[in-house]
Amino acid sequence: MIDLCPECGAADLVYDRHGVSYTYKDRHTTIPSVAAYHCAQCGGVTLDPAAVHRYDELVAQFHRRIDAEAADPAYIRTVRSKLRLDPVEADHVFGTDGFVHLETGRVQPHPSTLKLLKLLERHPELVDELRE
Ligand SMILES: [Zn+2]
Repeated sequence: MIDLCPECGAADLVYDRHGVSYTYKDRHTTIPSVAAYHCAQCGGVTLDPAAVHRYDELVAQFHRRIDAEAADPAYIRTVRSKLRLDPVEADHVFGTDGFVHLETGRVQPHPSTLKLLKLLERHPELVDELRE
């Protein structure tokens, strides 16, 4: 429980819960139902100390989800090499247009490309079925 605004010292605080917009690596989410004190004097927002742990945990979950989706360019290069594909063959197998850009990190792979990459990493023998 907070009685005074930590920003301006006013006692004019309103307690409520709302969704808080959050951005990480250009991806947006809303952390739902965040309990906070809103200062009617200065507009400052202070998280309820009892809610900070939950907020931090939801933020950490979001980070893990985004990081798991992001592909490591070195990983992409390693798998292509393991599959013994040159960049042109990789475009053919993966249906991409510029596979090399995925290996520099300039372009993020489509999620389906990443899934196929992971599948072929585990079952490299299947790449022959995609070569035609
Ligand atoms: Zn204030």
